[in-house]
Amino acid sequence: FHVPKAINEPVKAYAPNSPEKAAVLAAYKEMWNTQIDVPLYIGSEEIRTGNTCNMSAPHDHKHIVGTYHLAEKSHVEKAISNALASRKAWAAMPWEQRAAIFLKAAELIAGPYRAKINAATMIAQSKTIHQAEIDASCELIDFLRYNVEFMTQIYNDQPNSDSSVWNRVEYRPLEGFVYAITPFNFTAIAANLPASAAMMGNVVVWKPSDSQVFSAKIIIDVFKEAGVPDGVINVVFGDPVMISDTIFDHPDFAGIHYTGSTFVFKEIWKKIGTNIHKYKTYPRIVGETGGKDFVLAHPSANVKKVVTGLIRGAFEFQGQKCSAASRVYIPKSLWPAVHAELKAEMATIKMGSPEDFSNFFTAVIHEGSFDKLAHFIDQAKKDNDAEVIIGGNYDKSVGYFVEPTVILTSNPKYATMETELFGPVLTIYIYDDANWKETLKLIDETSEYALTGAVFSQDRYAITEATQALENSAGNFYINDKPTGAVVGMQPFGGARASGTNDKAGSAQNLLRWVSPRTIKETF
Ligand code: GLU
Repeated sequence: FHVPKAINEPVKAYAPNSPEKAAVLAAYKEMWNTQIDVPLYIGSEEIRTGNTCNMSAPHDHKHIVGTYHLAEKSHVEKAISNALASRKAWAAMPWEQRAAIFLKAAELIAGPYRAKINAATMIAQSKTIHQAEIDASCELIDFLRYNVEFMTQIYNDQPNSDSSVWNRVEYRPLEGFVYAITPFNFTAIAANLPASAAMMGNVVVWKPSDSQVFSAKIIIDVFKEAGVPDGVINVVFGDPVMISDTIFDHPDFAGIHYTGSTFVFKEIWKKIGTNIHKYKTYPRIVGETGGKDFVLAHPSANVKKVVTGLIRGAFEFQGQKCSAASRVYIPKSLWPAVHAELKAEMATIKMGSPEDFSNFFTAVIHEGSFDKLAHFIDQAKKDNDAEVIIGGNYDKSVGYFVEPTVILTSNPKYATMETELFGPVLTIYIYDDANWKETLKLIDETSEYALTGAVFSQDRYAITEATQALENSAGNFYINDKPTGAVVGMQPFGGARASGTNDKAGSAQNLLRWVSPRTIKETF
C-alpha cells in the first residue's frame, strides 16, 4: 500500500476580519463561559469520579474555566484492563485501516475541530493564537500525517528472499500496554505520544498534564470520531505518583512514551528497574526531557540574524519549550551591536491576554514556574557576577506574567547558565573573540543537557569547527537559525544526555520503539 504523501499543514494567518479569526474567537468565548466538566475516558465509559479539580486560565488565574475528575487506583486498574481487553482486535486490524483512522483524525483537526482545539490551547496554556495554531493544529496534524507515512515505510521494509526461501518480518505491537505521560506545554505532544504507539497497534493508558485537560478532551473526541475503538486509548487524570505506581506494578506494562522533566523521568526509570522482574517483557522506555539550549555567535555572525534568533528562540511560546534558547555566548566585538539591537527589538514586544491577537507574548502556565523565574531574576539582581539588563519585572496579580528578561553574566557557570528555567529568561555571557575554541570546549563541557543549540556564523570553517566540537551537545543543531521550531518531517526532534533517549519525535525511529518484530523464515 502507498498512503497519501504527507504534507505539512499550512499555518493560517488569523488576519483581522478573517473567517478563521472569527471562528477561533467564538470558540474561545464559548469555552471561557461554559464550565466544561471533563471525565476520565476508560473503555466506552466516561467516568465522573466526583473527586474534581478546577481548571483556570494562566493569564487570568482567578477565572475557573472548568473541572476535571481525578482517578483513584481502581480507575487506573480499570483503564489497564480495558486497554488489555481491546488489544487483540486492535493489533489484528490491518495496519492500513489503522492508518486511515489517524489520517481521518488529522483532517478532523484541520477542519471542524481546528478553532476549538486552538481555543482550548489558548485558554488552558495561555498561548497566543499564532502559538496555538502552530502547536495544536499544524504540528498535531503533521505528527499524524507523517507518522502514517513512516508507519507505511516500516511495514513495507522487508528482508531479502529467494525462490526457495521466503523471509518476512511482522511488525507486531508490544506484548502488553503502553503508558503515555504528556507535558504541560504542548497540545501536539499530548496527541502524539499516545497516537504514535496506538498507530503501531498498541493499546494505551494516557495521563495528560493538568494544562492539557481541555485539549485532551478534544483529542479524544476526534480520535473516537475518526474510528479509534473504545479501550485503545484510555485517559486518566490525577495523582501522578499513584497512577504511575499502579501502572509500573502491572506485569503487562510494556513501554512508556514520556515527555516531561528530567527528574521525573529518572525516577520512572528507577521504578521500572526495581519492578523489572514483574514484567513479561523488557519495557520500552522512550523519553524527551529537559534542555538548557545554547546560542553561540561567531565574530563573523550577522547581528540581525543573531538577535532575531534570540528573540524568537527565547521568547516565543513564553520560553516554555524545552528547545528554547536559554544560554548565549556572544563575542566581545559583536556585543555592543547585539545589545543595542536586542534592546530595541525587545521594547516592541507586546504582552497580554491571548484574546488580543496582536499580543506576541502571554503568561507562563503554572504558578510554580512563575515563582521559580521570579526567584532567579531576583537573585540575578543581587549577585555580583550577574545583572538584569533588559526586562526583569513580573506580576501574578491577574495572570502569571513574567516580562521577557535578559541577564548578563561574567561567569559562564552562573546559575542561570546551567539551571533549566523553562521560561522567558535568557542569560548572556561575553567571550573574548580570541577564545572561540575555548568557548566551544566550554559549551560542550557545560552541556549537561543536549537538546538543541544554534551557531551563527558567516565563516564556513567556523561552522564546521562548531558542528564538530558540539556534536554531543545538541540532538538538534541549527546553523544560522533559532534553536526552536522543529517541523515534523523536516527536523526530527530529540536530544541525548539529560535531554532524553533521543528517539526523535516524528520519525520512523520513534515508531520502531512501539513494535516487537517477529521474523518468519519459510522454505519451499
Ligand atoms: N519541538 C519543539 C521545538 O522544536 C519543542 C518541543 C518541546 O518543548 O517539548 O521547538
